[in-house]
Amino acid sequence: MEEIEIFLKDRESKGLLRTLTAAQARRPGRIFLDGKEFVDFSSNDYLGLSDHPKIKQAAKEAVEKFGCGACASRLLSGDLQIHHDLEDATAVFKRKPAALVFNSGYQGNLGIISSMYGSGDAIFCDRLSHASIIDGIRLSGGKLFRFRHNDAGHLETLLKTNRRNFKKVLIVTESVFSMDGDIAPLKELAELKEKFNCKLMADEAHATGIFGETGSGIVEQFGLSESVDLVMGTFSKALGGFGGYLACSKKIKDYLVNCCRSFIYSSALPGQIIASDIKAIEIIRDEPGRRRTLLANAEFFRRRLQLAGLDIKGLSQIIPLIVKDSNKAVELSGRLRDKGYLALPIRPPTVAKGQARLRFSLTTGHDKKMLEAVADEIIEIEKE
Ligand SMILES: *Cc1c(COP(=O)(O)O)cnc(C)c1O
Repeated sequence: MEEIEIFLKDRESKGLLRTLTAAQARRPGRIFLDGKEFVDFSSNDYLGLSDHPKIKQAAKEAVEKFGCGACASRLLSGDLQIHHDLEDATAVFKRKPAALVFNSGYQGNLGIISSMYGSGDAIFCDRLSHASIIDGIRLSGGKLFRFRHNDAGHLETLLKTNRRNFKKVLIVTESVFSMDGDIAPLKELAELKEKFNCKLMADEAHATGIFGETGSGIVEQFGLSESVDLVMGTFSKALGGFGGYLACSKKIKDYLVNCCRSFIYSSALPGQIIASDIKAIEIIRDEPGRRRTLLANAEFFRRRLQLAGLDIKGLSQIIPLIVKDSNKAVELSGRLRDKGYLALPIRPPTVAKGQARLRFSLTTGHDKKMLEAVADEIIEIEKE
């Protein structure tokens, strides 16, 4: 117990203690904390679908029909027809032959990578990939190689030297990066995958619903549905619901149903979650205006800050303002909070040293006027 106390005190003294903050209420673009209303720039509800009336209605109807819990795993009696309907809809949406639903994106990454790869295999992963990808690799027992962020040249060098020493090899990346808002060079990765006889996996957590002709993601936008073997993602971000998925071949799906422990040994997602995820896919198909507005607003916000000389990254709805110094990031976040804007500071070790930032996650709950106001506020503070 003493160790735990020392650990917590140490974290606190360094200003790195993580704590929970309970909100009283939330709706797209807004959050209510300590009795105050804030404009929320830290939510992943990019399209405001968590509050969509048709999706809420679908969930309510499913609760009435199926009750609140699934009460068993998919392989026992937890499997409902609507789980299969969601998987069929996801496969069509992602232009792959099949799809499998996971209880979260985290459990998806953990289980997919660890059940498909093992000792004697290698996984080459972008340095900035999400913790769930890293944890899946660790659990697999395969050898981890990290290539420099979005650097296909570095990946090629690593593959040239090391590919021959391993049996199966996976290349894995996020398609839109959660902390940098930039986009992976998937075409180049797909070429390397062919050249070195590997499989390619893309985590579309932040791309799904936003990019591509039908809102399917970056894999669709680049026309790479066939070359990316494993297209995973989550229903918990732009789709406003919950659960993870993998779109893949029928064989890989069958294999995972047999071998993927995070799929097998966890109760099925309840019907209301599944019903809302199905409806969200429909809405993304039927309401393309949402993603277009979001990307236009993101472009507007980025340009406004860039024109003022600020260091802005990203090519998506995720917009990091790089302030470098951790204390400065905390201070800027605090000052914006005083003005009613909630944008959280992201510091090392989540990002590299000297790369502390404020991360603005834009959603359709923010209109141009709001974005203009917060941009002016930031520019004003930065001028001091
Ligand atoms: C959020 C996220 C996940 C995990 O998805 P959940 O459904 O929230 O567990 C996986 N990968 C990336 C890149 C993410 O941003």
